[in-house]
Amino acid sequence: MIRATGLVKKYGAVHALDGLDLAVPEGTVLGLLGPNGAGKTTAVRILTTLLQADGGHAEVAGFDVAERPGEVRARIGLSGQYAAVDEYLTGYENLDMVGRLYGLGGRTSRERARELLRRFDLVDAGDRPVKTYSGGMRRRLDLAGALVAEPRVLFLDEPTTGLDPRSRADMWDVIVELVSGGVTLLLTTQYLEEADRLADKIMVIDHGRAIAQGTADELKAQVGGERVEVVVGRADELARAESILAELAGAAVTVEPHTRQITAPVQGGARVLTEALRRLDAAGVVVLDVALRRPTLDDVFLTLTGHAAEDSAGDAGDSERLEDADQPSAAARS
Ligand code: ATP
Repeated sequence: MIRATGLVKKYGAVHALDGLDLAVPEGTVLGLLGPNGAGKTTAVRILTTLLQADGGHAEVAGFDVAERPGEVRARIGLSGQYAAVDEYLTGYENLDMVGRLYGLGGRTSRERARELLRRFDLVDAGDRPVKTYSGGMRRRLDLAGALVAEPRVLFLDEPTTGLDPRSRADMWDVIVELVSGGVTLLLTTQYLEEADRLADKIMVIDHGRAIAQGTADELKAQVGGERVEVVVGRADELARAESILAELAGAAVTVEPHTRQITAPVQGGARVLTEALRRLDAAGVVVLDVALRRPTLDDVFLTLTGHAAEDSAGDAGDSERLEDADQPSAAARS
């Protein structure tokens, strides 16, 4: 269990944390999501006893982080943004060393190192110096190092930043497996898809405070429901299409003359989409492209922070765009 109330950390005039409250119940995953400089790393450093807060209170695994840092450290694992592994040692030697530092004893440390190399798909590379490893391999080794002492509480600070999509997906698989084993996890990320996929609850922070929290679905619901997006063939068809879609939506629609796109908030999913196409067709409007879109965490982030996420995991979200223009538009044209 991780719990913090009113955490404050100042660097001169900068409020890195400005009264942050958070709670991660046992066996759950909290995704701390925020742009660069939001305060994510500062929060993790305080919770893992690496940094003292200027105000507030935090408890991890039942111990106060300021008063009993040794007890906290013995019970947690931390895997950081910058892999904390020794370049000149092999993967095996790194893990064996961590085990000995934790006082596991020679035999147990060696066994644990071999077991973790297997689990993280590093057996072949295990006897090579880490300086020959790829970025993804280093991250896996760093995470393996955080697991040597089998902690029940784990902190992962941007575990996949800078990884290619394949290595990121591999890392996600490892994290999902860890979580299914019951660890309590606080994960920071700038990748919305990562939070969506791995976290039970998401907290969005900006300027050192929480600006929203909930499940991914709850956050998406805050920015509204589904939308139908239609791109019409000619500018002079916009007004007609707009009135058809506004009538169907029963609400105001947005028109972007530049791209000839109309966006209508709807309820009823694919049924409404079909009806929209039928009515546009009957009115002789040529439809070039049509999509039914659910809000994504990108929309949530943009709405809440006023700016897009710095970086996205490359996926545009839950869009169900019908790129095959022949289908809807041919129907609309005929
Ligand atoms: P990133 O995604 O870039 O790691 P973050 O959300 O982890 O960002 P923090 O690293 O916690 O953000 O930083 C929060 C704020 O505190 C930023 O404005 C940062 O510049 C400032 N800050 C952090 N550490 C220091 C420090 N040692 N000295 C001065 N300012 C700092």
